[in-house]
Parts: sequence; structure tokens; C-alpha cells
Amino acid sequence: MKKTTFVIGNWKLNPSSLTDAVKLTAEVTKKYKADEQTVVAVAPGYLHIADVTKKIGRKAIAVAAQDVATEPMGPFTGEVSALQLRDLKVSFVIIGHSERRAMGETDEIVQKKIQVALKYNLIPVICIGEKDRDAKGDFYSFVEKQIKAIASVLTAAQIKKVVIAYEPIWAIGTGKTATAADVKEMQLFLFSTLTKLYDRPTAAKVPLLYGGSVKKENALELHKDGGMDGFLVGGASLKADDFISIINATKR
Ligand code: PEP
Repeated sequence: MKKTTFVIGNWKLNPSSLTDAVKLTAEVTKKYKADEQTVVAVAPGYLHIADVTKKIGRKAIAVAAQDVATEPMGPFTGEVSALQLRDLKVSFVIIGHSERRAMGETDEIVQKKIQVALKYNLIPVICIGEKDRDAKGDFYSFVEKQIKAIASVLTAAQIKKVVIAYEPIWAIGTGKTATAADVKEMQLFLFSTLTKLYDRPTAAKVPLLYGGSVKKENALELHKDGGMDGFLVGGASLKADDFISIINATKR
């Protein structure tokens, strides 16, 4: 049986108006042809989630949030909780994005966010990835440390409910993409690390995504030869045609 492929568009702090967010949603929704093997999600800003969800209507496109509070409710000014996201029919939540880690999000905070997301039935899309690539390959130990931090709070049953996105920081928003061979090596490394931490059947159930300057021009090669289960897409998810081309590349 063919594995499920995930393509998630992270809109970050874009677009600048609700009108444009709804317009982008309408374009993606109109052009997207759903199939059973592909899960597609878009992650708008919090303020746009309700209208984006409404615009998607009954089309098989899920909505993701870009972050979640560590607490479900209470005196936490400025935060948005898993309960509130669930109430808006959000399915996925991106956790530990490098742009949030750069603002001070630690592995401990990431662990709490994963736990609260799972508790309220949101699927965490957990981002990991090194800042720089060194010739000696020390970045593998960095990534391993991040995986271990995640695994330390998740049982085998729970790790099967998360998605892991490998996003090397040097490739995010820079136009520098990892090669398909680099992505394949990392996919094998992540799979073997998860196998050591759990077991092979459990590791095989964890979807692994690649993110970092994925574009319509490189998506086919990265998907075919990279061996991952899909993509987390930033910049290219803001143009409906490009996002649809990337989705279609994962089906070929
Ligand atoms: C991201 O921020 O998750 C990302 C992958 O961005 P980009 O595709 O723009 O590199």
C-alpha cells in the first residue's frame, strides 16, 4: 500500500490582510484535486484561521496552526491554546519551528507544546534541523539530540501520532536547498534513530517531512530521491500555483 504523503504550507506572517488570506485559500481550494494518499494542510496566521477554514468548506484541505501555547487555558496573555485551536477545527500544529526556537523556544518548551497538542487531539508537526552543516557531520549529533528530546516525552503509541519535519535552518527562506542525496541520508538517519529509540515498526509509522526552500522546480527530485513523506513549504506556499505544483510533484 502506498504511504500517505503530507504537504503543509506554512504561511508565517503572511499575507498582510484577511482578504488576501481568503483569496489565497480560494485559489488553492479551487485548484487542488484531493486523493486518498495525500494530506494537504495550510497554516495561516491565527487571526485568519476561522475564515480560511470557512473558505475551505468541505474540500479535503486541513488547517494547521503555526504554534500553540504550553497551557490549555488561564492567565497567559497573548497566547493561543490547543483548546481554542481545536474549537476552530484546526488539525495540525507546527511546533518548534526554527524561527520560534530563534526567539528562545527551548527543547523543554517544545516538549510541553507537543504534550498539550496531543492531549487535545492536534497533530504536532515537530520541526528539527541544524543551523549549519559541517564537513565532519557533527550536525547529525545535533539533530539526534533534538529527536531524543522529543522521544523522551513520547511513548511508542504517541510518537506514531506526530509528524517530524526536518528543516535545516540554512535552507529556510534562503533559496539554498539540501540536495536530494542529503535529504535521503537524513531520512535514513532519522529512521534509524527512531528505530533505536523505539522499534522498526514504530519508526516506520512516523511521517518524516523535508522543509527548506522547496519550490515547484525542485519538488519532484527532492520527493523522488529524498525518500521523505512530503514537505513543509514556506515561501512557495504563498502562491497557489506553486503550492499545487509541489503537491502534484509528490504524486508522480
Ligand atoms: C519553513 O519556514 O517552514 C520553510 C520551509 O520555509 P521556506 O520553504 O520558505 O524555506
